[in-house]
Amino acid sequence: MQTSEIVISDDVAGEWRVPVLTFEGSDPKAPRVYIQAALHAGELPGVAALHAFIPALRTAESEGRLLGDVVIVPKCNPIGAGQWLHGELQGRFEIASRTNFNRDYPLIALKDRASLLDGIEARPAADQLKRHLLHLALGADLVLDLHCDDESQLYAYLEASFWPEAIDLAESFGLEAVLLSDGGSTAFEEAVTHAWKAGDLGARAAWHEGRISLTMEFRGLRDVRPDLAAKDAEGLMAFLQRRNVVSGEPVRHEAFTGPVAGLDYVQMIDAPKAGTVLFEKTFGDQVRAGDRLAAIIPTPGFPENDVAILAPVEGTIVTRVAARFVRRGDNLMKIASTALSNKPRKPGGALED
Ligand SMILES: [Zn+2]
Repeated sequence: MQTSEIVISDDVAGEWRVPVLTFEGSDPKAPRVYIQAALHAGELPGVAALHAFIPALRTAESEGRLLGDVVIVPKCNPIGAGQWLHGELQGRFEIASRTNFNRDYPLIALKDRASLLDGIEARPAADQLKRHLLHLALGADLVLDLHCDDESQLYAYLEASFWPEAIDLAESFGLEAVLLSDGGSTAFEEAVTHAWKAGDLGARAAWHEGRISLTMEFRGLRDVRPDLAAKDAEGLMAFLQRRNVVSGEPVRHEAFTGPVAGLDYVQMIDAPKAGTVLFEKTFGDQVRAGDRLAAIIPTPGFPENDVAILAPVEGTIVTRVAARFVRRGDNLMKIASTALSNKPRKPGGALED
């Protein structure tokens, strides 16, 4: 393992240094891997998983079991990690520009990878960070961006072209749900697939052959625990074993029985009114149309004003908001279903800002 750093110059003064770990595989034909965690700086289950995974990968490397090159940025967003507002971490958007750290990535062809770094010092700090991370990712065949949701099942978010080959991902991690996007957004994992689609096929029959780029949602914000970190580290190892990056029998195999839903089949349950939320269902629950999901209390002490939130269709609750006070329009839950979504979305759009 070798360590290096991404250096980002601050827009005002000084700089950030982001550690990058590089492992060299023994087989140049084996897939190359890129993994990063905490792009949304407050989402830490992936950091904990990598903390457990990196020593296992070092052992594999020293024992000659590492076949493919692996690059890891274990905590990839120091700009977001430094943004504290009245004691709360604001890790999703850059405060200065309100830019989501996981949107607005340059959409380029793979052959133009080197151009990402042209004149980079003159760019805004958040843009420098995004370009460095995308540049690293485009050197790989398997790209894993480790996030988490608010309160959530363990699920992955990936382009539909990768499915069903990516069943090995579900079996390695014990995924509880899979959401399939139609591509075309400017999120990190889709900027990677954009570059692949815009590149030459080379020896591949299709652009996605032998590749994957995904956002892993490692459950919820508070699911940062040693037992889960160890399990997710095993999931990472099992996936790299299945993809011939590390030799040996996969250390985990879980049958996948969860829902697989295109984004147009994810019901976004939004709050019709502001108030205190009393949830009556949680993530993982199966619901039928008309089932009560929650009550919103707009006027405490006057239950006659409570607003019942009902499931619009049958499905599986995948996520739930972490807050217990919501504004009108805030998302309360996402339900994976087999019915077209209640909230039309632009083609290529993400579910949320
Ligand atoms: Zn995230």
